[in-house]
Amino acid sequence: MNLENFGRQVHEVRRNTQLLHHRVSESPEGQQDLLAEAFEELRTALEELHVAEEELRQQNEQLAIAFHQTATERKRYQELFDFAPDGYLVTDAQGKILEANYAAAHLLKISKNFLIGKPLVSFFPSEERRAFRYQLQRLFDMEGMQEWEISIQPRQGDIFDASLTVKTIRDNEGKPIGWRWLLRDITSRKQAEEKLNKIQIQNLKLQEVSLFKSQMLAVISHELRTPMNIILGFSQLLLRRYYHLLPPELREMVEKIVQSGKHLLKLIEDILDFCKLETSKLELNLQEVNFVELVTRIVEELKPLAERKNLTLILHSELKNPNIINDRDRLQQAVTNLITNAIKFTETGGVFVEIQQVKGDRLVLMVKDTGIGIPESEVAHIFTEFWQVDKSTTRKQGGVGLGLAIVDKLVRLMKGTITVESKLGEGSTFRVELPMSSEQ
Ligand code: ADP
Repeated sequence: MNLENFGRQVHEVRRNTQLLHHRVSESPEGQQDLLAEAFEELRTALEELHVAEEELRQQNEQLAIAFHQTATERKRYQELFDFAPDGYLVTDAQGKILEANYAAAHLLKISKNFLIGKPLVSFFPSEERRAFRYQLQRLFDMEGMQEWEISIQPRQGDIFDASLTVKTIRDNEGKPIGWRWLLRDITSRKQAEEKLNKIQIQNLKLQEVSLFKSQMLAVISHELRTPMNIILGFSQLLLRRYYHLLPPELREMVEKIVQSGKHLLKLIEDILDFCKLETSKLELNLQEVNFVELVTRIVEELKPLAERKNLTLILHSELKNPNIINDRDRLQQAVTNLITNAIKFTETGGVFVEIQQVKGDRLVLMVKDTGIGIPESEVAHIFTEFWQVDKSTTRKQGGVGLGLAIVDKLVRLMKGTITVESKLGEGSTFRVELPMSSEQ
């Protein structure tokens, strides 16, 4: 039942009443009957009216409820609008502000009430206003949301970078009647982008420098290695063939040449290795290696070095299956380096090398010493190239701080890990964990 129906019913009752009145006035003799009939019809009509009235009342109630719900919803949306974290504005088709929330007022540094009625363009720096007006014209023909970045000149304070998102409001015929705007301060995003940009540029430059450095070092090292090998070879030959013929003074000189030559060659080899590892040019030559046999041989070779310092050098292995798949020469290089370091940085006591089997088809090599140890603050840097705790040791014992950096990179290439635990004055333990097979 709606208002139209109700009106129709009232009209019907009125028409019936008139008809009755007409009939009564035309035939007065049948008045009794007609009156009775009229009352009957009136009663029926009244009953229908009553039903209609009841229905109308119910509809009214429902309308009131719907109205209340709509008002609550509207209030909720108004609150969402008012207290949204981003600035929201509604303008008419000329860009005059009709509605604004608190965030917008806060961003534009003006009270919400004063914001209403102002042209949005008045919050842009003068040099950007023309471009903005032009954009507005174009917006009329655009569908969907548009977004652009712009500078905002608030009523007080400095200009800031903002992003504006806009959507056209249209009437029922689709004619644009205004815009909804979302205003967001993007200063920190811009700053972060700028920083990131700078860092990326710096990174690129660093990568270039690093690549250049590695390539240059590789060339130099290669060019140095050949003549160095020749110098070393001839000096060794000189010593071997003419040892007894050489006067002691000359012999000593040639021995010094051999000693320094070896030193220099080792350094060149280290630099070359490091460059290759850094530029991922080093490939492992994988083969079956008896790891225990290999470490035993290295320990035997280094024993004289330890004995010269009155140090013990002991090896203990618990490996059930000593055969692993790895690069023999590179394993030898890494293990030799760790044991040599342990001897180099230990004055009393000794070095204990241990091989263990661990779960998940991996083995562990531990090199423990009772040496000078590494200060806690240095442990994190120990695998960085050219890093040395005490440079004076270098002068005394040789080395430039490339050994551990190479070991670290080699172990990683072998899909293993290396860690160190150390206590200053008590000693260090280097722990290398390797897969039984370094194949892919
Ligand atoms: P190098 O031995 O040529 O100096 P490394 O890369 O092998 O270079 O070692 C870097 C530094 O780490 C050493 O200079 C030393 O300070 C420290 N270091 C390495 N091994 C030990 C160890 N076993 N005990 C104490 N310090 C160590």
